[in-house]
Amino acid sequence: MEKKELLYEGKAKRVFATDKPDVLLVSYKDDATAFNGLKKGTISGKGAINNRVTNFMMSLLEKEGVPTHFIEELSDRETLVKKVSIVPLEVIIRNISAGSFAKRYGVEEGIVFAQPTIEFSYKNDDLGDPLINSYHALALGLATAEEIETIKSLAFKVNTFLKGFFKKLNIDLVDFKLEFGRLSDGTIVLADEISPDTCRFWDCDTHEKLDKDRFRRDLGGVEDAYQEIMKRILGE
Ligand code: ADP
Ligand code: UDP
Repeated sequence: MEKKELLYEGKAKRVFATDKPDVLLVSYKDDATAFNGLKKGTISGKGAINNRVTNFMMSLLEKEGVPTHFIEELSDRETLVKKVSIVPLEVIIRNISAGSFAKRYGVEEGIVFAQPTIEFSYKNDDLGDPLINSYHALALGLATAEEIETIKSLAFKVNTFLKGFFKKLNIDLVDFKLEFGRLSDGTIVLADEISPDTCRFWDCDTHEKLDKDRFRRDLGGVEDAYQEIMKRILGE
């Protein structure tokens, strides 16, 4: 597969065309941003870790019956994925209160929910990814009712699997963000990434944060946290 022109440069990844129209090459960067791009920095080694962790998780999810965009890991930072038309929704699942949930509803972080929550943000940087509900998504024409049902059910399935997977690594999966896309035949598949950039991971015993919150909140030890996640998942 040949790498062709750069199609899109995002905050954390570059997306390239390939010689196949339905295949993209994603290249993960060490660049880190937070607060809708207001805070910028570099997390050394992050690109490789997020690439490898994402691909490992996507492969496991495929085996669990969750369709994903993953095709093949080419190198530490580069992966081939199925080209999708991204549904412009950030799908957020939460098991424990943290981040914007705690802030918005005035509760402390660390409340373990009896059942997971789901929320949608409209993926639009200019608007700061506003929180919306499924009726808003329908009104805005972001997805059909059927697609929203599929996305909800896949997101909860991903959560059930990931929560159990991370528990065995002594990690509480606090919350995470998923993106879904449509293949050319309309099939909804899981796309984008699953990594310490997009999930909150807390050590079960120490409650130490092992994710991007270390960067967002200037907690130090950012690189070590990403390394620790990779070590627990991949054993290296
Ligand atoms: P952002 O756009 O938020 O800065 P990234 O730097 O991660 O994010 O850029 C990657 C972009 O590629 C995102 O906009 C994401 O929605 C998109 N994307 C992820 N997977 C696919 C895919 N399989 N096909 C097309 N676009 C994808
Ligand atoms: N998240 C993400 N990208 C975003 C917003 C959130 O990956 O643009 C992830 C974030 O890492 C966390 C979860 O979604 O795991 C919930 O984030 P929250 O709404 O609490 O917002 P934040 O506190 O990150 O601003």
